[in-house]
Amino acid sequence: MEINTLTAHELIEKQNKGEITPQEIFDSLKQRIKKVDPKIKAYVRLSDSNSLNLQLTAYSLQPPLRGIPVSVKDNISTLDYNTECCSKILAGFKPPYDATVIRKLKEAGATIFGAKTNMDEFAFGSSTENSCFGPTHNPWDLESVVGGSSGGSAAAVAGNEAILALGSDTGGSIRQPAAFCGVVGLKPTYGRVSRYGLIAFASSLDQIGPITKDVRDCAILMNIIAGFDSLDATSVNVEVPDYTKPLGQDIKGIKIAIPKEYFIQGLDVEVKAAIEEAINKLKSLGAHCKEVSLPHTEYAVPAYYIIATAEASSNLARFDGVQYGYRAQNSLPGRQAGKLKTQNLIDMYKKTRGQGFGEEAKRRIILGTFVLSHGYYDAYYLRALKVRTLIKKDFDRIFADFDCVLTPTSPTPAFKIGEKIQDPLKMYLSDIYTISANLSGIPAISIPCGFTKKGLPVGLQILARPFNEEMLFKVAYTYEQNTPWHLQKTKI
Ligand code: GLN
Repeated sequence: MEINTLTAHELIEKQNKGEITPQEIFDSLKQRIKKVDPKIKAYVRLSDSNSLNLQLTAYSLQPPLRGIPVSVKDNISTLDYNTECCSKILAGFKPPYDATVIRKLKEAGATIFGAKTNMDEFAFGSSTENSCFGPTHNPWDLESVVGGSSGGSAAAVAGNEAILALGSDTGGSIRQPAAFCGVVGLKPTYGRVSRYGLIAFASSLDQIGPITKDVRDCAILMNIIAGFDSLDATSVNVEVPDYTKPLGQDIKGIKIAIPKEYFIQGLDVEVKAAIEEAINKLKSLGAHCKEVSLPHTEYAVPAYYIIATAEASSNLARFDGVQYGYRAQNSLPGRQAGKLKTQNLIDMYKKTRGQGFGEEAKRRIILGTFVLSHGYYDAYYLRALKVRTLIKKDFDRIFADFDCVLTPTSPTPAFKIGEKIQDPLKMYLSDIYTISANLSGIPAISIPCGFTKKGLPVGLQILARPFNEEMLFKVAYTYEQNTPWHLQKTKI
């Protein structure tokens, strides 16, 4: 068995028995990356000479993680590595501090590895094609997308180029790539994991979460990153349980809601069949499943794309060529006599932002600025906030009677690279099943639940009440342990 195919909990156990060293884990991953990353392209900036080294920090090699490498999405701030959100506008930016999750991981003995994983620029996308470094390729089929925006993290885990990974999820960016790559991805409750050091996309929706090979690893990683942080004003001071406790607990009698609005036109037949089979499996394990209605589901995509772009346009205003990263050449007014190409400061902003942002980022900034502008704010932004409340109330009503909700993670398996990139609306619709969890702030997990005939993974999504990640772990683990999906390996 190759070391890089093992889970974190297997590696920790082997380390405890003295059967393996952190250096051996690193060497195995490095070899694997050398072999497959030229094809998968899960990582960006591998040329950073430190990126694949075991860093001996003050804490490393301590329990519970004992030097286990963790691969990190390019929008989570790391003191030791560039953090560029895979955008030209942040080229060369190295944060002066670690995100809280990174600090916690280091304190738990982990090493930050791979500097860092590919993503859609500023997390805008569902395919990782919007990266200034180019797309990541799906380890199950190199011509297919990995999903997005945390596609590099999901592909690295699926391709055994990473042991554990972090992503961020604003509208599905952890769960959808996890589904497309056949791995586990969790979006925690809003406020559960500190956003301090996560470069903001839409601040009222963003959450950092784990992408892992199995449910136990996901619980282990959550145990480390979850918890109150005074540096994040939206962090909530709720006690963090031991998320490994619910693993193995009986699910007999658990009430699962199946919303009929998630089984409509556009849902791929093979995905539908896999989900139905999963429902039957859970029933056979003692769960009670019942069809319900979440009537405002159809408004989730439009509401999300107003709220998310509005917040993004405001958050991205800070990238102006003055404080961070990229500045258009010869764009500073004054002093550069002879070379002067711009007239004033505004001109410098325009040039820098025009050259630094990619197409999708520009589209979102323009859309977001429009919906917030005078005369349109009430008609679009305020209205979308009201719809958001209705969507949340749908879930509140269901959770009064049910323990969790079960849906497909995505209406289709991974699509081909290039298939949707010219059609933003088509791309936005791939988020139809994941967005509601962000609008409502509730936790949701995606776990593997089968494969299509072409060998592409299918993801099952489970959602629960706020701060009830334990329910997700309980149901997901029982399902996982009674099915073979998480044991399948890519052929690459
Ligand atoms: N695909 C969605 C979008 O493009 C979600 C992205 C995310 O969760 N960061 O906005």
